[in-house]
Amino acid sequence: MKLTIGAKTDVGRVREANEDSFVADAPLFAVADGMGGHIAGDVASATAVEVLQKAADQISASDPDSLVRVLQDANEAIFDKAASDPKLHGMGTTCTLVLIDGSTAQIAHVGDSRAYLLRNGELSQITEDHTLVGRMVSEGRLSREEADHHPQRSIITRALGVDSNVDVDVLSLELAEGDRLLICSDGLSSMIASDEISAVLAGEDAPQAAADHLVDSANAAGGEDNITVVVIDVGEGTGTGTAPSTSHVADAGPRATTDPSADTGYHRAVEIAPVRRTWRRRIVVVLGIVVLLLGGGFAAARYALDNSWFVGVSDDGRVAIYKGIRDEVAGFNLAEEAETSSLELERLPEFKRDEVEAGIPVDSLDEARATVADLEELAADPDFGTEAKPKS
Ligand code: MG
Repeated sequence: MKLTIGAKTDVGRVREANEDSFVADAPLFAVADGMGGHIAGDVASATAVEVLQKAADQISASDPDSLVRVLQDANEAIFDKAASDPKLHGMGTTCTLVLIDGSTAQIAHVGDSRAYLLRNGELSQITEDHTLVGRMVSEGRLSREEADHHPQRSIITRALGVDSNVDVDVLSLELAEGDRLLICSDGLSSMIASDEISAVLAGEDAPQAAADHLVDSANAAGGEDNITVVVIDVGEGTGTGTAPSTSHVADAGPRATTDPSADTGYHRAVEIAPVRRTWRRRIVVVLGIVVLLLGGGFAAARYALDNSWFVGVSDDGRVAIYKGIRDEVAGFNLAEEAETSSLELERLPEFKRDEVEAGIPVDSLDEARATVADLEELAADPDFGTEAKPKS
């Protein structure tokens, strides 16, 4: 099969850094979306891609176990780096790897970077997200549509580098001429619906044009996360088509030299996006309430507080629902505890603890209860239970 490649990574419109990494070097293709504070996510995704590139001649599409081994090696490399440097503690990355040999594609993945197949104009998602909501979809408790808009959709249940062992999913696919494969980070799939992904893929002839168009669409929809796409066309004949091999390794260097608008990539921070959104929104709410208080508009301020909710931590360390906002303004306590759950904060994985401590803003009591239910599920999740174990 002749492969023609298009690839693009972009920082998006909200993040300061791109923590995605990818490789598009036929027959090896992969997208990795790192997580962790500051440089950690970049290091995690870059390490995954480096391990894959170095092991390229040791993996074979006729030996699915070789793909599992290379992802386990990447897991170990990231885990060891994280253990040896406090700044990298807790980092991890997704990785979706596609290896093509003849008409067979072997796909191995951990996390929520997806592989899709466009065949005869129809798009199918090949990989199952290793996310909390992905599991709820596979159990029939959520529709894919609901999952795509779920507030907890970015919580992944598996990643490379967070534990000394990792489960890798592998599947194989028989390719046909005319197939178009897409590998992408969630900066694409969480920003635009699969219908739109399908329309863009079907509407562009050249894979690079499709890749560029997908990134543009994700940015037009808000670009809330780093966006990485690799598009592979399967054609008649053998070898690689016109597109050159390409890769991007997240830049883990000093931020001062990084142009945030640069069209180059780094990775994801699953836990960072919600926290940042939390802060931006809180600042707006606090400023609004200060203005209302200064203007003597206590009734209006009261109204605003009565209609603000967040999920936070009670005095005895349990997850609780608060009416109001977390901050104090001029000595006024602006929140009152509405409901306290039985969930102890320390049962949550570390990154989620930080988020709850910062306060997760929600629009209603119902949404607050749903968020608490999600947190309870997360705490009970065996994968996260493992992740939440202290690593030393
Ligand atoms: Mg991402």
